[in-house]
Amino acid sequence: MSKTLQAVRGMNDILPEQSPLWQYVEDTIRAVLESYAFREIRMPIVEKTELFKRSIGEVTDIVEKEMYSFEDRNGDSLTLRPEGTAGCVRACIQHSLINRQTQRLWYTGPMFRHERPQAGRYRQFYQVGVEVFGLEGPDVDAELLMLTARLWRRLGLQQVSLQINSLGTSAARARYREALVEYLRTVHDQLDADSQRRLESNPLRILDSKNSAVQALLGDAPRLADFIDDESKAHFETLCGLLDAAGVAYEVNPRLVRGLDYYGRTVFEWVTDQLGAQGTVCAGGRYDVLVEYLGGRATPAVGFALGLERLIALLENQAVAFPDAAPHLYVVSLGAQARQQGLLLSEQLREALPALRVLTHCGEGSFKSQFKKADRSGARYALVLGEEELQRREAGLKPLRERGEQQTVAFDALGGMLAGLLDLES
Ligand code: ATP
Ligand code: MG
Repeated sequence: MSKTLQAVRGMNDILPEQSPLWQYVEDTIRAVLESYAFREIRMPIVEKTELFKRSIGEVTDIVEKEMYSFEDRNGDSLTLRPEGTAGCVRACIQHSLINRQTQRLWYTGPMFRHERPQAGRYRQFYQVGVEVFGLEGPDVDAELLMLTARLWRRLGLQQVSLQINSLGTSAARARYREALVEYLRTVHDQLDADSQRRLESNPLRILDSKNSAVQALLGDAPRLADFIDDESKAHFETLCGLLDAAGVAYEVNPRLVRGLDYYGRTVFEWVTDQLGAQGTVCAGGRYDVLVEYLGGRATPAVGFALGLERLIALLENQAVAFPDAAPHLYVVSLGAQARQQGLLLSEQLREALPALRVLTHCGEGSFKSQFKKADRSGARYALVLGEEELQRREAGLKPLRERGEQQTVAFDALGGMLAGLLDLES
């Protein structure tokens, strides 16, 4: 016998019992984004490999070791997107969305990175990405953070906290990089292999090291904040003031850098201590140089990406309540005529009450076995159709989740009665 096939390691199925929570999260995110007048953009999942190499940077974890790249039948090198910003910028340039106009955009979908799978870290995972183009001031940075804070409130999420930092301009970072490298060379032998390698390729990333011995060494390292240019400093101070005024709590974390090359000035992460090592739920910042770098007109930009698996794990941890997707009604019927009537009556009820969820029994089955299925479906009520009821154009309505007798209701009165019982709009 052949072995049953399994999904690719690190790539998950989202099963029907999980989808109500996913849908609740996606609907809530969308509603919040719409309340800030953001518009959705949908990009392809596959882009040219070169796009990611150029935008994310050759010496980043993603490009060095995490991309799913392949040659297509024409011999072109393509990559399953590891993140959405590059494709979004590419689309904006290609379709002239950002010539002399601002854009507030969002997208969602799967991203792919060949990482070591573990809780909160997968090879296919979902992100919601948000990008704003054409605004350079700290007001829009603040607005994005207010938006995320509002989202957590709306979802009923607790225990996420905001860390922010400024990376300054690329000139300031270049000066800092020199000072950092000079210091780190003096402790070179105490660094782990990863950091030693980064010392040559991408030293700022060492600040982000998850190795506590490396973090301890960084205690005496020069501080990025001391190298930041005055304009960036003022930008950051205004951002902090706006967050204070809006009541968004934050912590300035001078070690916070982002993994991708294109960030400058504002960077931020929403973190939690409830998810073990994978504690960053949402991360982003300013990337004022990327659009021009990819061939567009110089356009300031800021954005973030939110990891849906981590957000959902957190909501599950906190047992946040969300709307139930079980059917309202399970239609039980006995006999061929009643079965047909059941199908038709269900159609009429869906017509009258668009939000009503009706599961109509199909196939054979005794009343007893149908009631068992009705119960297992989680339905609130069973609607019972027998030959006798049919003659009188009546049905039995029986509560399944609470005590109460079955009552007889005329077909014509069913819509109104269900609307009242289930609080549904007609
Ligand atoms: P990390 O430091 O955890 O690897 P990152 O800096 O690589 O994160 P980003 O590229 O900023 O992550 O992605 C934004 C968000 O997407 C992360 O904060 C996280 O919530 C989520 N995310 C990133 N990689 C994964 C993954 N492999 N599996 C699940 N979620 C992920
Ligand atoms: Mg990563």
